[in-house]
Amino acid sequence: MPKKKFVLAMMMHETNTFSPLPTPTESFARKGDLSGPLAIAEAEGTNTSLGGFIEVARKAGAEFTLPMAANAHPSGLVTNAAFEQMAAAIVAEVGKGCDAVLLALHGAMVTQSYDDGEGELLARIRKVAPNVPIAVALDFHAQMTEAMVRGATVITGYRTYPHIDMADTAIRAGRTLMRAMAGEVAPKMVWGSRPLMSSTLMHTPSREPMKTLMGLANAAEDGGQVLNASVFGGFPQADIPHLALSSVFVCDGRTADGEVIMNRILDQAWQRREEFMFRPEPLRDQIARAKSLKGGPIVMADHGDNTASGGTQDVMSVIEEAIAQGLEDACAGPICDPISVAQMIDAGIGGTVSLELGGKTDMPAMGLKGKPLAVTGRVKCITDGEFKVTGPMATGSIVRLGRTAVLDTGRMLIVVSERRSEPYDLGVFTHCGIDPRTKRYVIIKSRQHFRAGFEPIAKHIVMCDGDGCTASDLKLFEYTRIKRPLYPFDPDMRLGRNEA
Ligand SMILES: [Zn+2]
Repeated sequence: MPKKKFVLAMMMHETNTFSPLPTPTESFARKGDLSGPLAIAEAEGTNTSLGGFIEVARKAGAEFTLPMAANAHPSGLVTNAAFEQMAAAIVAEVGKGCDAVLLALHGAMVTQSYDDGEGELLARIRKVAPNVPIAVALDFHAQMTEAMVRGATVITGYRTYPHIDMADTAIRAGRTLMRAMAGEVAPKMVWGSRPLMSSTLMHTPSREPMKTLMGLANAAEDGGQVLNASVFGGFPQADIPHLALSSVFVCDGRTADGEVIMNRILDQAWQRREEFMFRPEPLRDQIARAKSLKGGPIVMADHGDNTASGGTQDVMSVIEEAIAQGLEDACAGPICDPISVAQMIDAGIGGTVSLELGGKTDMPAMGLKGKPLAVTGRVKCITDGEFKVTGPMATGSIVRLGRTAVLDTGRMLIVVSERRSEPYDLGVFTHCGIDPRTKRYVIIKSRQHFRAGFEPIAKHIVMCDGDGCTASDLKLFEYTRIKRPLYPFDPDMRLGRNEA
């Protein structure tokens, strides 16, 4: 019997429509190839969706191709050129004919022309291959749409946040698709949503209220009541009409039972909507609290400028306040500032430099101007900014910070890099000679993903409401395109009949 032929692809971007950072083709470019054997070699064995789908294809004994392996940090709208290039490569390969398509997508891609990049990609694939089985693995922060559900055969989403089950999410989707192709099951999807814009800070499935919701979904899937069950928190920093908390169930044949459980989950989310809201607090009080805590490391997470939600990673407000309040024995970073990196490399290791650090990017959608911080110190270390992740999130993958240098101000070691990357692995510090376990304060820009690598070493965690385009206080954003009514913007709203 001839081998089955699969097409695998990755096209991942979480779009923050308020971010000033553009997302051209170059944002998706990598050191390795964007397709073919080199891209396969880099992804194979990693704890990523693409790594999981490669495992599925190998186990099935299929031949497979990888026409596109594109993944960019969250940022502003994806340019038309970038989207067209990625979609065209995938559609062309599928158009040559294949037995299955396995797609690692994010689910929250907004392009210059499409509010739902993933739905558009799937619609184009369906035009050339109306009946091919398609498995899609999505991020937990996907913005679910009818187009995605219509275009895919099976959809699964991450069950964790920090996302430490990326490969497993793909394997769950792949397993169902393989069973369907063998004629064992007949996947049918149902989905629903509630008009709830929940804070990503309240999304962690390891804590309430998401714990109960995800627990119900996991029990339905693991107990065999349905083939797959996923809950999606949505991503609030996007001004698009389909923003909501949603759920997708893959049922075997009849959908009635799955629909009952799914609606139970969504109803719970709606009843507990108040628990999904974020309550802001003055930054100076948070820094003062960190200062008053005993022992260390005290991990301070600045979620207002979080690169993995579209942050510029160069807002200095938290570090400025930490210095102003006299915090000592601290490490911080990475701050994305190629100009400062160049100055530090010019000065060389041991050299003294005065920098106007960070603050290079204005944020017009937030009404914020870039504000650098004047710092002086000694250059402690210079690296190429590359390291392999050893922690639980995206294990085995390579982080590329670009050229990176460490500034020692005496009180604080600040990592400065040419590129952005959310710190979720200790490698951001250890690769440049800093052991965060020995520091009293560890100041990083992250929302939840830092918990993967940093929670195990943290004596205390202090969340910091820094400035930036990933602020958790949603009142700081001007939404013009969201569909109203939407909680919490319309606090007294009632659900329509089809949602209740
Ligand atoms: Zn996510």
